[in-house]
Formats: sequence, C-alpha cells, structure tokens
Amino acid sequence: MRLLLLAPPGAGKGTQGERLAAWSGARHIAAGDLLRAQAGADSPLGREIAAHQARGDLVPDQIVLDVLTPAVTEAAAHGGYILDGFPRTLPQAVAAAELAARLDVTLDATVYLYATDEVLTRRLLDRASQSGRSDDRADVIRHRLKVYAETTGPLVSYYTVRGILVAVDADQPPDSVTADIQTQLSKLGLSPEALP
Ligand code: ADP
Repeated sequence: MRLLLLAPPGAGKGTQGERLAAWSGARHIAAGDLLRAQAGADSPLGREIAAHQARGDLVPDQIVLDVLTPAVTEAAAHGGYILDGFPRTLPQAVAAAELAARLDVTLDATVYLYATDEVLTRRLLDRASQSGRSDDRADVIRHRLKVYAETTGPLVSYYTVRGILVAVDADQPPDSVTADIQTQLSKLGLSPEALP
C-alpha cells in the first residue's frame, strides 16, 4: 500500500501513520522525525534543519528530498509506504510523483485529516510539556498553522483533482479516526486483504 497523510500540525498524522503501517504492512515514514534526526547531528546541514524547524518554517525542498528519497525508495521495494508530512509543498508533490514514476509505482490514496485551528492549537499546547520539541510553543504553533494554510493546504485540491483524496474528520478519538480511514480505504478497494 502507498499512502500519503496530509494534515495540519496536531491532527494526528504520527499516530494514524503508525496504525496504518501496522494495518497494511507498509512502512511509516515521518518526514518531521527523519528531519529531526538529521537536525540532531552536529553538522552544518543539521544546524540548518534545526533552525528552520525551531522557527516553524518549512525546511527547503531540496534538503527534504535528499533526506526522504532513500527512505521512500527503500520502502517502495518492501511493502509500500505511509508518508507522513511529505509532500508539504507543491514542488515536493511534483517531485514525489516523479519519484513514484521512476520507481514504477503509483500512489493509492492521500488521506486528508482535518480539524479546526482551535482544536489543533489545544492539542499541540497539551503535548508541549511532554514533546520537548522546540516548535511546540504558542507563537511557533501559530506560525506553523499559517504556513500549513498557505503552503500545504493547496495540496488538498491537487490530490482531489487527481481523484485520490480521502477526507476524514480528525476531531474524534484516535480509534474512531483510524476506523473512518480504514472504512474509506476499504471502500476504494484498499485494504490489506484486497491488495495483491
Ligand atoms: P507537525 O506536523 O506537527 O508540524 P512534523 O514533525 O511533521 O510535525 O514537522 C515538524 C517540522 O519539520 C515542520 O514544521 C518543518 O520545519 C519540518 N518538516 C517536516 N516535514 C517537512 C516537509 N515535507 N517539508 C519541509 N519541512 C518539513
């Protein structure tokens, strides 16, 4: 199975991504986690990534592609991928489609998780004390939601036009969100049992 998870900060991409990976046998690839791992390295690249993340700005497309491409390539050859947080810009979406074409695979669906800014902000602030993340602060959260609305939000219509968008209300308990996603994917013939 090959899926994208498209959602604003705080919608639950990470939680749902892990569950969908366990359900489908595909690999969960979280762009933010891979970038944070790189950011922890004491190198010029690590420092550049860390600075963008701490401000709540997107990491430049080329860096993201360099970090994500090997993981996606590897996963494509081993049961597929659940991409969480990638692509996040239109150029990244185009690059992701080109990569899939190069690997001779197609994307099955894009799962879009939506919730209001009020719900998202509350969740991120609740998580802030445990997450230890430099970007879980009220001012940075506001900025991340703005960046999402301006830069990532337009990908909803990009995938709608391509006929592969599955929209799910993220303002429900995690189990209900998972069940809704699985029901909608199964209706499209995308369930682990139905896959070759
Ligand atoms: P959230 O969805 O809660 O913002 P993530 O861990 O997915 O959490 O992302 C955290 C940060 O990592 C983003 O604010 C951004 O700086 C960087 N990042 C993650 N994915 C991408 C991407 N595809 N393109 C650019 N930057 C990214």
